[in-house]
Amino acid sequence: MSKAPQDSTLSPSDHARLWRRVDKSDGCWIWNGARGKGYDTYGRFNLRGRIIRVHRLIYEILIGPIPEGLQLRHRCDIPYCVAPWHLIPSTGAENMRDMAEKGRGAGRFSGATHCIKGHELTSENTYIFPSNGTRRCLTCKRAKQAEWNRSHTWADRMARERERRAKAV
Ligand SMILES: [Zn+2]
Ligand SMILES: [Zn+2]
Repeated sequence: MSKAPQDSTLSPSDHARLWRRVDKSDGCWIWNGARGKGYDTYGRFNLRGRIIRVHRLIYEILIGPIPEGLQLRHRCDIPYCVAPWHLIPSTGAENMRDMAEKGRGAGRFSGATHCIKGHELTSENTYIFPSNGTRRCLTCKRAKQAEWNRSHTWADRMARERERRAKAV
């Protein structure tokens, strides 16, 4: 990822283009322009052919340079929020820990090594949802299933199975 340029590299028309897409009506400043796909939904800004992460760009414009090697962690958990006071410079490791604690992050972007209950996420203990690639701790998933089994009667299970079948048809 290229470094965000200093404010001075933005022309007045770049500035206009940038701020036109920032919705400041709420507590968060929501970026209404292009966003990344999949798990990387950070706002993106095209500056003379270079794709830049908007939250970094705006942080550098309004607050100052981001210390070398640091990422900006979203306090509000909205990747496409660009409000500088919602951004905390932090190391990648801190960022990963934060994501793991909040259960965010998935697939190859997830750095979580343990689930929220402290089970290690080895390949044997990780379930990956086929639909979206989200990772889950298998131990917790099984425990939840067991809990469900305990709290539901056979009739409940049959009903659920019928529902599932009806959807599949
Ligand atoms: Zn925010
Ligand atoms: Zn677990």
